[in-house]
Parts: sequence; C-alpha cells; structure tokens
Amino acid sequence: MDRLTTYLDHAATTPVRPEVVAAMAPFASERFGNPSGSHRLARDARTALDDARDAVAAAVGADPGDVVFTSGGTEADNLAVLGTLPGHPATIVTSSVEHPAVLEPARAAARLGFSHQEAPVDADGAVDLDRLADLLGPHVAVVSVMLANNEVGTVQPFDQVARLVRRHAPQAALHTDAVQAAPWLDLARLAADADLLSVSAHKLGGPKGAGALVARVPVRPILHGGGQERDRRSGTHDVAGAVGLATALTLAAAERDPTAARVRALRDRLADGLLAAVPGTVESAPRDRVLPGHCHLRFAGVDQEELLVLLDRDGVCAAAGSACASGALQPSHVLLAMGVPPADAKTAVRFTLGHTSTDADVDRALAAVPAAVARLRG
Ligand code: PLP
Repeated sequence: MDRLTTYLDHAATTPVRPEVVAAMAPFASERFGNPSGSHRLARDARTALDDARDAVAAAVGADPGDVVFTSGGTEADNLAVLGTLPGHPATIVTSSVEHPAVLEPARAAARLGFSHQEAPVDADGAVDLDRLADLLGPHVAVVSVMLANNEVGTVQPFDQVARLVRRHAPQAALHTDAVQAAPWLDLARLAADADLLSVSAHKLGGPKGAGALVARVPVRPILHGGGQERDRRSGTHDVAGAVGLATALTLAAAERDPTAARVRALRDRLADGLLAAVPGTVESAPRDRVLPGHCHLRFAGVDQEELLVLLDRDGVCAAAGSACASGALQPSHVLLAMGVPPADAKTAVRFTLGHTSTDADVDRALAAVPAAVARLRG
C-alpha cells in the first residue's frame, strides 16, 4: 500500500501479514502434495494440514476433529445452516442482522419447505432476547446469531442467546458467525457454548478463500465428492489456505489484547474527531457495545455513495458496509432492522481500523472527511 492510501476498511478485508505469506509460500511451490495421498509428498502436505488443524482448534478452543476447513466464511455459514437441517420440515431462527452468508441459505431453505424466522434487534443492533425466546421451541433445528456484526460492529449477548436456546430449544444446533469477532474477541471463551462457529482467514491478516467451520455436532455435507474432512466437506484441500488461516488466527490471538487496546484508542480519536468536526453526525451504535475497530457514522443529509467517491479521491478507503456483489448500495438491512429510516441509512459510512492502522491514518481521515462532507453539503 502506498503512503497516500488510508485504509479504513478492515471489516471488508485486512492486509495479509508477512508471516502468513511466508508460511504459505512453500505450499505454492515445492510442498505441493495432495494430503489425501500416501506417498512422501502427500504425507508432507498431510502433516502441514494436521498442524494447521491443531492450531485452528487451539485458537478457538475446539477439538482438532471439530475443525472443517472451508473456502471461507460464506461456505462455513452455509454448511452450518444447511448441514444441520433435518429430513423433515423444521425452523431456522436467525437474528435479522446476520450476514447474507447466513440469511441467504436460510431463505433458500425456506423456499424448499423449511421455515425461517428472524429475531429483531434493538436500536443498537443487539438481538432482542425476549423476541428471540418467543421464536424458540421444539420445532427449531438451528439457531444462528453472530458474535459481532460486520456493519455496525455490535457485539451480541451470545452467552444469553445460548442460555435461551438451551432452555427453549435444547434440540437445536446453535451456530455463531465469528468472522468479524475473530480478530478482537476471545472466541474460545465467548463461543464455548456454540455447537458451530465460522471463521474466515482474510479478516485476520490471512488469505481470501480460506476459512473453517468448527462443528461440535454432526453436519451433513453441502459439497459431495471424495469425502475429505471426514465426509463433511469434499474437495482437494487448499493446504496453503489452511496454513494461512492457522498462522493468521494464531498471530491474532497472541496479540489480541494489546492490538485491541491500541486500535480502540485510534478508533475513539477518529470517532470523537469526526463527531466534533462534522455537525449532524451520529454514531450508529454506542462504542462500548461495538468491536474496537468499528466506527460507523451517519452524516445527516449526505449521500454515502458521493461521500465514498470523494474520500476515495483523497486516498481514504472506507465503505458503506452493505454493498452487494454488483457494487450497488442498498439501504443496509442492518440499519433498517435497527429502526433507522431508509433515507438516513443512505447517509452511513463505515470506517474500520485493524492491525495495521496508525495515527497517520486517523490524521488523514480527520482532514479528509470533514472537507468532503462540507463540499457535499455545499
Ligand atoms: N460473515 C461475516 C460477518 C462477514 O463479515 C463476512 C465477510 O464479509 C462473511 C461472513 C463472509 O466471509 P468470506 O468473505 O470469507 O466468504
């Protein structure tokens, strides 16, 4: 990244750590074996895969046998939601602010005869526990509530969610999407009660296209083939990706507390500075409820797309948090679920900091954003 680029979009993806690149490199060259074979090169790849599995398991507090390597967070979420459905009609309960990687498989299952119910959230984006309890019962097969939200950053009261699910739907599999939480929160402690947990390497300084589902309960595969991953996920292993995920998770876990404290201070300076410098700015969720790197603001009367274009011209990379694959910005389903009117939702910009963020990034954003907003307001 050049010196003039201010990268404030860590929730979208993070710069790959040099240690991860180094750890992956041999598997893109001389250590190219297929771990499903039996000769020496295959055994070498198998050893690397087993080591990666052990490291992922240690970082998230799971048994190595529970780790299913996937092509990323999306596949892990799909496997959790679809792989736990029974052979008879049943209900999937999610929060209304889940990532599309959870909501869309649930909606796809609903088109096939299952039922999908969404638990609403409060104005801060936290799931409404009473309304969640109302949706639970013996008919529920799977409940999916994320550890932390990708758009506004709200951390969910997952321990209370788990207690409700065990009391009112003890037969249900409980999934949590920990993709955004993984760089910041102790997954081993916070998600100990989850039956299923998704992580993705590229949010942690790892490669894109690598992730894992921790499955403490049986899952039926959604990819059928050679029976890899104990029949839970067929397909020749991406050994380099698994090694990259393991390295990134291990590094992130080792430096989590100091990095979180450092980034939280940077985020607070950014948020306080923008709130002071730009009249009519609101934070979408209170800071004590969101991840350390998230600064999600709404700038009254400003079109988010126009603001993002101006910021990009100034070298500041931020996001609306709700782009679909075409790049078109829809009013965010998360903000709408939090009760934000659609017109206000279109004024939102998400600045997300991460392990490489510096004071200089904050300084440049504090110079660029007020100027860009002032220009748009004429
Ligand atoms: N879940 C959450 C909360 C995310 O933020 C993302 C990515 O933005 C995903 C799932 C999807 O992960 P991946 O990009 O690895 O498919």
